[in-house]
Amino acid sequence: IKEGYRAHWACYDGSLRQRLVQEQTLQTDMRQALKEEQFQVWFQPQYDYRSGEIIGAEALVRWVHPEKGLISPAEFVPVFEKNGFIYDLDRYVWAHACRWMRGWLDRAGALPPISVSVNLSRMDVYHPGLVECLRAMLDEYGLPVDYLKLEITESAYVEMPEQIMETVRRLREVGFTVEMDDFGSGYSSLNTLKDVPVDILKLDMKFLSGENTARGGNILGSVVRMARWLDLPVVAEGVETLEQAEYLSSIGCRYMQGYFFAKPMPAGEFEAL
Ligand code: C2E
Ligand code: CA
Ligand code: CA
Repeated sequence: IKEGYRAHWACYDGSLRQRLVQEQTLQTDMRQALKEEQFQVWFQPQYDYRSGEIIGAEALVRWVHPEKGLISPAEFVPVFEKNGFIYDLDRYVWAHACRWMRGWLDRAGALPPISVSVNLSRMDVYHPGLVECLRAMLDEYGLPVDYLKLEITESAYVEMPEQIMETVRRLREVGFTVEMDDFGSGYSSLNTLKDVPVDILKLDMKFLSGENTARGGNILGSVVRMARWLDLPVVAEGVETLEQAEYLSSIGCRYMQGYFFAKPMPAGEFEAL
């Protein structure tokens, strides 16, 4: 087994082959799919729980495959991270997000503008042209830099601290808002925070749910308090119930995203909302 830390061997069975074949078809189809715009950018709204207003959205990619139907990013993103295609796909997603934002700005009327958070793969961070590419995209669509927010997963910070620090520093220098995604999923969360320059924490409820909810609640409370000390806004994601929303609100976390409010939806639907 390559890329395994614990196990170095495994027993071969049909499911292994099945997975390889599946990955292979995704790889065969991906370039054509990009050309034919089979990838769609969906949006999941983010709310200010106190005012009830939509304050932004996260852009999430979907593959609408002509034969296979809707494919989830959990299935293809890891494959594209392995073969390097992710940078092409992500640039496509960022450009589409910018294009939608441009349209909303043009037609907003009296509505307040909203920002969009896009996902950066850990592989994107390795690209030497990343900062310039993002900067050029804003220019192309005439967007102010604070409209496009960038999410980088916490585990990437842990895996390659030096590259990340340098890239994040340059992104923030240009004016981008950088969010630490999946905060709480890694092991050195608290430690990372003290060294890494980020602007927003995204706290995923799923990392704290489980059997011991009382303990999870305490941890959540401490993280939110600590974020306040550090002057870091927190967006809680994966909020599924009223109880969760109320609890988050009671400990001072007002920005939320999750199925309780709305699932990710096609851009047209989001626009209507
Ligand atoms: P993520 O960035 O952590 O995105 C949040 C995921 O949680 C999304 O899954 C979203 O649909 C889901 N979610 C939102 N609210 C809830 C909730 O209340 N409960 C539960 N159980 N789930 C909720 P999705 O869209 O399937 O994306 C999965 C992952 O794929 C993302 O996790 C992100 O890591 C990656 N991904 C998605 N779009 C892109 C992209 O354009 N580029 C890159 N590089 N990665 C992407
Ligand atoms: Ca994300
Ligand atoms: Ca997340």
